[in-house]
Amino acid sequence: MIQKHIQQLQTKIQQCAQQCGRSPQSIKLLAVSKKKETGMILEAYQSGQKLFGENYIQEAAEKIPALPPDLRWHFIGHLQRNKARQAARLFDVIQTVDSLKLAKLLDKHAAALQKKLSVLLQVNIGAEHQKAGIASDDAERLLTEIREKTTLQVCGLMVIPPYSQHQETSRNYYIKTRLLAESLAQKSLFTDNKQVELSMGMSGDYQVAIEEGSTIVRIGTAVFGPRE
Ligand SMILES: *Cc1c(COP(=O)(O)O)cnc(C)c1O
Repeated sequence: MIQKHIQQLQTKIQQCAQQCGRSPQSIKLLAVSKKKETGMILEAYQSGQKLFGENYIQEAAEKIPALPPDLRWHFIGHLQRNKARQAARLFDVIQTVDSLKLAKLLDKHAAALQKKLSVLLQVNIGAEHQKAGIASDDAERLLTEIREKTTLQVCGLMVIPPYSQHQETSRNYYIKTRLLAESLAQKSLFTDNKQVELSMGMSGDYQVAIEEGSTIVRIGTAVFGPRE
């Protein structure tokens, strides 16, 4: 089942990219495996999937060492500061950096591990009260400070738009995210300003996200089925 889901998703991503004039290779499928067992992750791996996302450090610390070493892991959950060291060790990319304090901690731990750690800035694009992420208006300042004070590879932006059952509702947030990333890239604030990553789109709205420039779609349910 998982293999079929991945093949279908890859086809849909490809078609969607072509319909909006983008190269299918510019879009990565991140299989979100939170709350799913290693057996299911292996099944995805056997159909060629290498990129996985996890939300909880404790869960990831059990699963990641038990899986093949050529899998690539993105952290997409809320990162508590006392878990920064484990996060730096376990993950290739931390998508949810939203403060200088957290960036400096990750930088310190990555340096101790002699590891080049990549991060994305999580932006609270819907300006929601309870949601994590830096406010859009503060992204430039934070990015500037991270560039000045750490050696982290800052590769782009990650957003979770306000929840909606209709994928069209997300479109405006994704447009805002792309425009914000473009203005930050113009000021050369990312590590690579010609290839800025936009982590946006989940099972319910990834097609809209691709139309608006997503380079990483984070898909759980449509790969592994519903979660408990
Ligand atoms: C769980 C999760 C996803 C995947 O959501 P689905 O709707 O199951 O595809 C994507 N992004 C984040 C940040 C998540 O926590």
